[in-house]
Amino acid sequence: MGIISNDISRAIEILTKGELVAIPTETVYGLAGNIFNEDAVRKIFETKGRPAFNPLIVHIPSIEELNKVVSYIPEKAKQLANAFWPGSLTLVLPKKSSIPDLVTAGKSTVGVRIPNHPITLELLRRLEFPVAAPSANPFNRISPTRPGHVADYFEDSLEMVLDGGVCQKGVESTIIGFENDNPVVYRLGAISVEDIQSVVGTVEIKNKKEQNPEAPGMLLKHYSPRTKIIISESIPADLKAYDREKIGVLSFSKTYNEALVKVNSTLSPSGNLEEAAANLYQALHDLDSQNLTLIVAEKFPEEGLGKTINDRLQRAAS
Ligand code: AMP
Ligand code: MG
Repeated sequence: MGIISNDISRAIEILTKGELVAIPTETVYGLAGNIFNEDAVRKIFETKGRPAFNPLIVHIPSIEELNKVVSYIPEKAKQLANAFWPGSLTLVLPKKSSIPDLVTAGKSTVGVRIPNHPITLELLRRLEFPVAAPSANPFNRISPTRPGHVADYFEDSLEMVLDGGVCQKGVESTIIGFENDNPVVYRLGAISVEDIQSVVGTVEIKNKKEQNPEAPGMLLKHYSPRTKIIISESIPADLKAYDREKIGVLSFSKTYNEALVKVNSTLSPSGNLEEAAANLYQALHDLDSQNLTLIVAEKFPEEGLGKTINDRLQRAAS
């Protein structure tokens, strides 16, 4: 497709003149712009149709750059950064006054991470500024895990998608803020709570908007396909209950090839939660394009990335 390219030098030119480029990361594709260029940051919100109260995540190439963005780093934040960066962890920390309010939606804190993707790390190292990059999807739609998803959404409004192939993790970063220097999970994501806890001990989870006014972007309805979706504790029972619908099943490891099922998307036949997470959005994009009237999604085990998958399915279903 026309706007997909692997030309990093061109991406640098476009970003430097204040325009946007969609960039690959290991989580999902991001819609990137220069954090110090007000027009560029405005364009991010406009292009996505994202409400201005929803802060953006700042992407930096190295831990050394963190001091240019944040004014204070609690000890446990250092431990988490050392353990997981580059990687799918966003830290929410007090911002430097130089970070524009538009980026942080007026908050005194900023979300920041080092993505773990070789092409985007090279891009960030060569740029003279950090980029803000929310997921490269229109507000409330399914996050993109392939360059083609981004091109489908923004062919008419974006100059370039930097091609980095398929996103390896396939779900957004885990967001961690600090309350009295103690880590709090604001968004479940590609790094499991168990892995976080193995570094810093027990952490609180405030993943719901009601529990956490600190993360104003955590809207209940999010990451949605257009097809109605329900979460199922028993697929066979729900197939009977909804026998008048054109059903697509989204399952963990089992396959449901019953007469009532028009499409079955199995996320990990071997029962691996990382693999299931990596395939989740592609499966939702696929199911959403099949003219179904209902997606019946299996409830995942509440452990490891199963928690993250259930969170995304709940937001898609609400
Ligand atoms: P996205 O860029 O689409 O992955 O979403 C970014 C999310 O990060 C937002 O919706 C917020 O929930 C969260 N976030 C970013 N910056 C902050 C911040 N300063 N304080 C709290 N949450 C933040
Ligand atoms: Mg998003």
